[in-house]
Amino acid sequence: MDLIAARLDKVSPSQTIAISTRARQLKAEGRDIISLSAGEPDFDTPDHVKRAAIEAIEAGQTKYTDVGGTLALRKAIAARFKADSGLDYAPDEIIVSTGGKQVIYNAMVATLNPGDEAIIPSPCWVSYPDIVALADGTPVIVPCAENNGFKLTAADLEAAITPKTKWFFLNSPNNPTGAAYSAEELRPICDVLLRHPDVWIFTDDIYDKLVYDGFKPATIAQVEPRLRERTVTMNGCSKAYAMTGWRIGFAGAPKVLIKAMDKLQSQSTSNTSSISQAAAVAALAGPQDCIEVMVEAYQARRDLVVELLNAAEGLRCHKPEGAFYVYPSMRGCLGRTSAGGTKIVDDAAFVTALLDEQGVAAVHGSAFMFPGHFRVSYATDTESLREACRRITEFCAGMT
Ligand code: PLP
Repeated sequence: MDLIAARLDKVSPSQTIAISTRARQLKAEGRDIISLSAGEPDFDTPDHVKRAAIEAIEAGQTKYTDVGGTLALRKAIAARFKADSGLDYAPDEIIVSTGGKQVIYNAMVATLNPGDEAIIPSPCWVSYPDIVALADGTPVIVPCAENNGFKLTAADLEAAITPKTKWFFLNSPNNPTGAAYSAEELRPICDVLLRHPDVWIFTDDIYDKLVYDGFKPATIAQVEPRLRERTVTMNGCSKAYAMTGWRIGFAGAPKVLIKAMDKLQSQSTSNTSSISQAAAVAALAGPQDCIEVMVEAYQARRDLVVELLNAAEGLRCHKPEGAFYVYPSMRGCLGRTSAGGTKIVDDAAFVTALLDEQGVAAVHGSAFMFPGHFRVSYATDTESLREACRRITEFCAGMT
């Protein structure tokens, strides 16, 4: 009898984590590596948030909490949903989990039966297809054209829906492209969803505070209130408040689903850390100007990276609305040979040779179900970004 369950054959380890690990290994061996592969802010968690955590420890808030989060935190989340998107969620329509990742996992395991389909527009975050598969569902990947800003069209969504469709995922701003949907762009998508009353909607808005040039983010339950009763509106503290290690994700959703997710969480992890929850109250209810400082820096870095990458031979880089990623096409390099002798047969060969020859770590597009591209995270200091883009340019120029 095999030790490892067959269910694990359906998933692969996160490819973004694999690249970051390889970059760290090379660094430990003394190589000069610039990592553009991690999906986390380079900023520190704001001081007032850290202080709230220290005070929580000193006040003895170090015990189990309600499985789905403290009432204080769920109230703070409700207030933020209202202030940011005009959405009304009562505290019992909210769950707090160990990162947004666990919210997604809870929702899928609580609802998918074998054969149920989940529509995932691609490029997509690496974990959606694996989580769906782990929950016995079938991921249905719908590619979104670069010349449409990597955004889903209503016609493509309509064509992907079948009687087996249980979920439709939308991630705006998107990881890995940074593409974000305005309220006007969500309207035709909402119209399709209104015609299919059995489809549930999972909107992952975890990057919605990181938008540039005055872009106004929008979310489905806000644009079309009639969809609220079958929508999970997910968000978290990891990206906007530079709190990846604190493990706070949350969602607003109809009570029936929140109860099911709570039940599942009660038999897996119980509550996320009580200390992190106290810190999250400070993040969500406290001053929000810490986000503005980060957004200003990200916008300047995005502009720099887009400009420098567009000047590299064989690359084409779309300027996105949000998040901290760009997703250049490397198709112009296909079939060529790097200075170090690697034939660039695909995006994986491109990023592997780039890491080995120039010490720059990025993630290949096929990890995001959309080959021919690579993801660059610009959540790193400007000096390193300039040097990384110089090396990428040299790498492309050295190809024959
Ligand atoms: N959703 C997207 C699109 C992400 O990129 C990430 C993290 O990289 C998450 C969700 C999960 O974040 P966390 O579990 O840290 O809240």
